[in-house]
Amino acid sequence: MLIAGLQKMTLIDYPGKVAATVFTPGCNFRCPFCHNPELVHSSHFTVHGNEQVEKRMDEFFEFLEMRRGKLDGICITGGEPTLQPNLVEFIKKVKGLGFAVKLDSNGTRPGVLRKLLKSRLVDYVAMDIKASPENYARVCGVEANLEKIKKSVELIRDLADDYEFRTTVVSGLHSEEEFKEIADWLSGSRRYVLQAFQDQGKILDPKLRKEIAGKSIDLEKLKSFFVGKVREVLIH
Ligand code: SF4
Repeated sequence: MLIAGLQKMTLIDYPGKVAATVFTPGCNFRCPFCHNPELVHSSHFTVHGNEQVEKRMDEFFEFLEMRRGKLDGICITGGEPTLQPNLVEFIKKVKGLGFAVKLDSNGTRPGVLRKLLKSRLVDYVAMDIKASPENYARVCGVEANLEKIKKSVELIRDLADDYEFRTTVVSGLHSEEEFKEIADWLSGSRRYVLQAFQDQGKILDPKLRKEIAGKSIDLEKLKSFFVGKVREVLIH
């Protein structure tokens, strides 16, 4: 388990909780709008052997010990955290200290999600729904295994204590129409969050800027497709 970064306190990453956020390196998607490009290619995150990994881990758990009673939970985000080999053990240790755990995932590794959810190790899951199935490859930048993505959606709906599905909406990459399809796919789910892509100056594929220039999508209209299908629909 590698830790690429730590945000020591956040009031927005974990709904209703004061939390810290752990960033893990490496991702199996290449979303052109990704605003954490340095985390996507794990080779950008250089560790100098096991000693440094262990040191970072020790420092992290020392930090957690100090924050007992001050923080409610820990968010684990990436990159894609389910790619980390010792994620289960890491979360067990975090839970053992009494913290709630929120996991962000792109849903590509349902086997890991199943293990975590069946063992009740995760309290909140936020899974990205990148696009409608037909548009997935374009939006996530690779040929995603849609069966795995769909399996993750099912597992989360069946097993998670609390969860959200969410889409970063990029006008020009997404069409308005595909959200009708996503609404049908997620029908019966607890929560869906729409968030508009905002260019904060650092994205994985700068060519995207030309492609999306001048395009816009009305998030309120997209939201209306989900009303009556998903219990709670939010725009962030
Ligand atoms: S899933 Fe996409 S947005 Fe998320 S870290 Fe990977 S490349 Fe970036």
